[in-house]
Amino acid sequence: MDIYITLDYEIYFGENHGTVEKCIIYPTSELIRIAEKHHVRFSFFVDCGFILKLDEYRKDFPQLENDYKAITDQITYLSATGHDIQLHIHPHWEDSYYNGERWVIDIKRYKLVDFNETEISDIVYRYKQVLLKLTNKNIFVYRAGGWCLQPFSKLKNVFKDNNITLDSSVFRNGFYTSGNYFYDFRNSPDKDIYRFEDDPASENTKGFFTELPISSIKNSPLFFWKLFLLGRKNPYLHKPLGDGRAIDTPGQRKKMLTQYTNCTVSIDGYNANLLQRGLKEMQKKDFSNIVVIGHPKALSRFSILKLEEFIIKNKSKHNFTTYTKAFENQ
Ligand SMILES: [Zn+2]
Repeated sequence: MDIYITLDYEIYFGENHGTVEKCIIYPTSELIRIAEKHHVRFSFFVDCGFILKLDEYRKDFPQLENDYKAITDQITYLSATGHDIQLHIHPHWEDSYYNGERWVIDIKRYKLVDFNETEISDIVYRYKQVLLKLTNKNIFVYRAGGWCLQPFSKLKNVFKDNNITLDSSVFRNGFYTSGNYFYDFRNSPDKDIYRFEDDPASENTKGFFTELPISSIKNSPLFFWKLFLLGRKNPYLHKPLGDGRAIDTPGQRKKMLTQYTNCTVSIDGYNANLLQRGLKEMQKKDFSNIVVIGHPKALSRFSILKLEEFIIKNKSKHNFTTYTKAFENQ
């Protein structure tokens, strides 16, 4: 099995967006420590819009100069040591600014498809340039901010023009629509890899794009109750390392606590407890790929321990890989 450990590298997006040090730099340094100890590499989807904003404001605000330098140094280091750096777009940065104390984040246009085609083309080009300059490597993989990339027909030509050929945003049976959010992966194929053209959740064998979906498992309400209770009981182990707060997703929490939900296989917080079960389920389906998602900001001490345990248990039997290692020469 090819195992992809993938991280969305970003701060939080609400009023309480947290700090670069606690949401990004420190938890990522923990990942680097584990990677180097066990000789495995991870894939990072970098929120490039944030880097562009830091660059825009750092001349006026010295504290942002520190943030900019810490992030760009860490990305350069990750890339130079064999981790994969790929594109993650949260276009709401276009409408957001720094007020001297904190980021004022406007998420009215949260999805890339909320912009018109000229704007989309400009955003994808500029955001990809950020990573090209930092890494000098091929940037060809996409993960959508908040999983929102539908209707993809509005993005596909821009992606072709910018040589984005592989997407890793879909998780099977995921579905959410509320306010600024929308994704619908309810009918996506029960496959670990497929081609698509106009919708990443629908297979098209002649499609230009490849989808390597995030692995998905069913989760019981009991699991989430446990998660909340453990967090209260032992915050040292279970509290997220990031110091911000996620933006509201109305209805999501209630749904998780009351019914079975389709979730990503994830290393965020207590989810890391399900890594081994996720791997077993993908093996049962005869899959050759498992894609695990995580966010440095949402990792906990518990999840870092669990990730390390998972790597130790599986590194000789399976192949921990990155998109670049697996796909670049295809
Ligand atoms: Zn994100």
